[in-house]
Amino acid sequence: MPINVQDPPAIYDHMPSKPIVRQQLPLEKVNKICRELITHPELVPAGQTIFACTTQGTEACFTLMAKIDYKVIDPNDQMRIVRHENAHCNGWTPDHPGASPYRVIQVPADEVKALRAATIPTVKLGIGDYEEISR
Ligand SMILES: [Zn+2]
Repeated sequence: MPINVQDPPAIYDHMPSKPIVRQQLPLEKVNKICRELITHPELVPAGQTIFACTTQGTEACFTLMAKIDYKVIDPNDQMRIVRHENAHCNGWTPDHPGASPYRVIQVPADEVKALRAATIPTVKLGIGDYEEISR
């Protein structure tokens, strides 16, 4: 399964000043819930799985992310997903202006299956605070 991560332009690529609430859920739930939360579902290519999304409020941002085992997706790639979502919290619009081109990461199907079933401990991402609210 390909995972598309677009890196934000430098102007949005920093820690948001607002508090960020992050929650991790199994991939299929993230994909389903994010499709309901995002304001521009038409920007998601057909058939693409959504691994994370961010909604921006006046007081805080809420980020929903899939549980991704860093044995499958390395910590660097997880950090890129967090940076991508933080950029949305900083006002980067859903059409991703100025983004780097897609970099497709190929994950073998059996690893994706394991990923979906896995109970993943909280991963220290190095950017911002990470809190897992519930499983
Ligand atoms: Zn995005």
